[in-house]
Amino acid sequence: MKIALAGNPNCGKTTLFNALTGSTAHVGNWPGVTVDKREGTYKKKGVKINVVDLPGIYSLSPYTPEEIVSRKYILDEKPDLVVNLVDVTNLERNLYLTTQILELDVPVVIALNMCDVIKKEKREVDVKRLETLFGVPVVKVSALKGTGLDELMRTVAENATKKRSGFSVIGCGRLAKTYAEAKELYEGEGADNVAFRAVKAIEKDAEEAKVNPIVANAVKMRLDENEDYEAAVADERYRYIAENAQDVIRGSREKTYKISKSDRIDRVLTHRIWGIPIFLLIMFAVFHLTFSEDFLYLGAMKAIPEAANPTVWNDIFGNGAINAPGTILFKLMELGTGKLGSLVSDAMPEGTWYTSMVTDGILGGVFSVLSFIPQILFLFLFLSILEDSGYMARVAFIMDRAFRKFGLSGKSFLPLLMCFGCAVPGIMATRTIESEKERRLTIMITPFFSCGAKLPIWACIGSVLLAGAYKDLIVYGVYVLGIVVAIASALILKKLVIKGETSAFIMELPEYRRPQFTNTMAHLWQKLKHYLFRAATIIAGATVVIWFLTNFSFSFRFVEDQGDSILGVVSKAFQWLFVPLGFGMGEDGWKFVVAAFSGLIAKEMVVSVMGMFAGMSEDVLEVDQSQLLSTGFGSFVAGMAGGVPAALAFMAFNLLSVPCMAAVGAASGEFSKKKYLWGAIAYWMLTAYVVSALVFWIGTYWWISLILVGVIAAAVVVKVLYSKYGKKAVKRAIEKKAD
Ligand code: GDP
Ligand code: MG
Repeated sequence: MKIALAGNPNCGKTTLFNALTGSTAHVGNWPGVTVDKREGTYKKKGVKINVVDLPGIYSLSPYTPEEIVSRKYILDEKPDLVVNLVDVTNLERNLYLTTQILELDVPVVIALNMCDVIKKEKREVDVKRLETLFGVPVVKVSALKGTGLDELMRTVAENATKKRSGFSVIGCGRLAKTYAEAKELYEGEGADNVAFRAVKAIEKDAEEAKVNPIVANAVKMRLDENEDYEAAVADERYRYIAENAQDVIRGSREKTYKISKSDRIDRVLTHRIWGIPIFLLIMFAVFHLTFSEDFLYLGAMKAIPEAANPTVWNDIFGNGAINAPGTILFKLMELGTGKLGSLVSDAMPEGTWYTSMVTDGILGGVFSVLSFIPQILFLFLFLSILEDSGYMARVAFIMDRAFRKFGLSGKSFLPLLMCFGCAVPGIMATRTIESEKERRLTIMITPFFSCGAKLPIWACIGSVLLAGAYKDLIVYGVYVLGIVVAIASALILKKLVIKGETSAFIMELPEYRRPQFTNTMAHLWQKLKHYLFRAATIIAGATVVIWFLTNFSFSFRFVEDQGDSILGVVSKAFQWLFVPLGFGMGEDGWKFVVAAFSGLIAKEMVVSVMGMFAGMSEDVLEVDQSQLLSTGFGSFVAGMAGGVPAALAFMAFNLLSVPCMAAVGAASGEFSKKKYLWGAIAYWMLTAYVVSALVFWIGTYWWISLILVGVIAAAVVVKVLYSKYGKKAVKRAIEKKAD
């Protein structure tokens, strides 16, 4: 047996899907999280039911990708039953979709979701009334609390085998006659889903005109040319709901108070001017909590005395300052992986190639990636809380105003936000954007939003630069740099390459909700699993390959000097290309080139490769293994010939270049033409190169920024002068000619 969940965006479909199938699909407190349908199995007491989670929709017209996916699924795949999930706290709007689903010849059960909220407000739903109104069973549930699910599935099992023919509310109102005639035409042709098709034909639905061209046209011929039937049908639906379902929910309306509370918060958080600064501030607070080694700047204020004899506790909790919670977790993890590393290396024979492979390659590389897990999870914990509470949906709303100026709409914001986690789902989520050009533009800038795999690079270099004092600021700065480059890119691409309209952005703001502990933990668990899996497979595998290539020569001999190794020789040949970016400078420059290039496969590789090189550098070998990570990275990064600006340029390059193979694969699936993909790859590499060079040159010779400002100012002046006098001069010339 196969059933489909259909309903408005954000009505709780995915939550219900997860509760029924025990899966952990992404639940988000904003519309548009699920684009593709998703399948799972419900098993209980010998009953086995396949459940499909359809994307959220407001109607069954073929206007958005979500609507098309859902409509096609119900019509073509013919599920045995459709569960129409209805959010009771938004009853009227949700029932609008219900009136459309009921037009199909498929058994339907209405599940009234969020009944926990209604109950808390001491209100009641008249289930019987709804049942007589629509002629299908209605069950009260709370997907979140898991109540009513057994009854729902029992009702589903009972009704799935019963036949049902479509019912349209259009048959009861002003358009009753038109509807009856259209239906008759379809019945004469022996079509399926006659009620649905008749209404669609009246709406002059493009998809229906394609499927049944002759009948649809016959219906169209009978319509009044001057009437907007689509609007009329929508009116009829709302009228039916308003007249009949008005007091389905009984009880005092304590809700008004609640709304105003949400509204009052929104008056501050979505303020026209303060909205964006508040968002930036909140984000900074998140980074501060995660990365700072001077929590609340107590150290800078000299509020904490420095220990005379620093111990390991000082390393973990801070010395002369307090480490932020995220940093404490990181230090603990670092200590753990360090101790584990020394245990392993002590147990292995000294000086053999396989000891080197295990200690330098796998432990040095993969462990350095693993030690950032706590901080990554910590950051995602905050992002997940912000998302679940409904705040991120507000940010999309605030951003829409700003995005519009850059040729994007708030619709692009949600996919871009996902890219902070991983670019792959982010790129896939661009499917919610209707305009093809806007989608392409959005995909082009997705990699600039720093993903979780890049985080270790910022964290590891941030803790080395300037003695780690500004780690939170540096990491925050990288994220902001990414956003700035993305905006600049959008402006440039929109002007030069991808011209076109910006689509409208309509989104209802979900109410603020307390984040759900289990939901948040499920998120984090997903992240952790994904990360560990990657570390154990791609990262470990690629690290061993790179270890081999940097330790063996072309004649497959173990080399003393890594510069003579396969990768050493090859990357030295390309090193000059990266000298202008700073990190290619000096004797060790080629190692950073290797790190940056391995990042094109997967961004975790950058730290893994750096950890490998750091572990092998001479001066670290004397140090205790548990100190390996910090000390090794310290001397390795601090030893960069280009200094701090080169390290910053190295970060910029990794931030902006091709994100990873998986993201390229995802983008290739989304672009309609191969040339767009190649264009995007070229654009990413070029941007990475140019911005990285700018960072290095301005960082080294800050006066270059003065020249840049001068050049830009001159260009602006020339442009203004030209548009002022140039036009006149041209006009004068034309007038002269006319004389
Ligand atoms: P979808 O867009 O329809 O898939 O909706 P989601 O499953 O992503 O849920 C949207 C939001 O509604 C999430 O924040 C859920 O935690 C919340 N939610 C879902 N079901 C319930 C419920 O029964 N009661 C309450 N109070 N919240 C719910
Ligand atoms: Mg969903």
